[in-house]
Amino acid sequence: MSVPTTLQPFPTPPSPADGALPAADLVDHYGRRIRYLRLSVTDRCDFRCTYCMAEDMTFLPRGDILSLEECLRVVRAFVALGVDKVRLTGGEPLVRRDILWLIERASSLPGVRELVLTTNGSQLGKLAQQVRDAGVRRINVSIDSLRPERFRAITRTGSLDKVLAGIDAAIAAGFERIKLNTVMLRGVNDDEFEDLVDFAIGRGIDISFIEEMPLGDTDHARIDTFMTQDEVLPRLQARYGLTATSENSGGPARYWRVPGQATRVGFISPHSHNFCDSCNRVRVTATGDLYPCLGQNDMLPLLPVLRDTAAGLAAEDADTALLDAIRRSMGIKPHGHDFDMRKPTPAVVRFMSMTGG
Ligand code: SAM
Ligand code: SF4
Repeated sequence: MSVPTTLQPFPTPPSPADGALPAADLVDHYGRRIRYLRLSVTDRCDFRCTYCMAEDMTFLPRGDILSLEECLRVVRAFVALGVDKVRLTGGEPLVRRDILWLIERASSLPGVRELVLTTNGSQLGKLAQQVRDAGVRRINVSIDSLRPERFRAITRTGSLDKVLAGIDAAIAAGFERIKLNTVMLRGVNDDEFEDLVDFAIGRGIDISFIEEMPLGDTDHARIDTFMTQDEVLPRLQARYGLTATSENSGGPARYWRVPGQATRVGFISPHSHNFCDSCNRVRVTATGDLYPCLGQNDMLPLLPVLRDTAAGLAAEDADTALLDAIRRSMGIKPHGHDFDMRKPTPAVVRFMSMTGG
């Protein structure tokens, strides 16, 4: 692939005077400052988790997907506008060819405080050390079951052994923090939450439990499996004596500590403990669509700005056009999601794998 050797920085935002926000910073209509970009680098995945995808998925043609150079341009533009945390996600980010090229460059951009990654773990056995060396300090690994057959049923194609080997490879690679992500699914994995916490404690890593969201038409009856934090937290508190902590990682999870252990137990609870008021994030899909909210359909396509507009402009003007488009997206950031698990068809038809988790 062609690798640009000299990347000119985007214009630096002016420094704040008297504590005011720099003019270039991204602040939406509700006064929320955007510091966190989640970038989906592919809609493809080697798993087909029942709550995330349909069994039969049609993936996007490769020409519709941002090139890695375009991904880097997007990251640089957001960083110029005050974003300092970037999560690469998907689909499965580690099945994207040459992803290490992007990780290396994005993690070393001045202004990027943290480049993090969410993965299903299937490729970590071979890639964990390279991902760490390329500059990822913290990593999230999704795992919904520790039972091989159940794991296979949830992921439809995944191998638990491979993911467990991937988690061990990540531990050996020396990530500063590793967090497991588990979607709470009644009647599917709700008898394993303690096993999963014990697994995390045994390895000195964190774990977050996620409330399922109605994203995409997945031929899986979400209302039957839906569980909330309010049901699971008391159960785990009784077992582990969890203590609340105000620690956070700049994302939506709220954490509890397991006394005497390194492990923190988190919950991501968009239904029962809505966190929209403090949302600091936007998402860009693999096709360059900028979604200011995971749970709404408002979006601003960046691909035309990256490709068509840029084609007719000098590099500097193309940069300005991209920055302007991103700034404009603040005008369409909704106040919050309207997730309703009772509706037979979800209001948001995009699969989670499309927008990026
Ligand atoms: N493939 C990677 C993985 O599985 O970690 C990254 C992308 S995946 C979409 C990111 C996270 O979203 C995973 O932890 C997954 O369990 C979660 N997820 C997917 N669909 C979801 C849904 N409908 N509700 C809640 N979480 C979901
Ligand atoms: Fe793939 Fe992650 Fe979605 Fe599972 S949750 S199908 S691993 S993108």
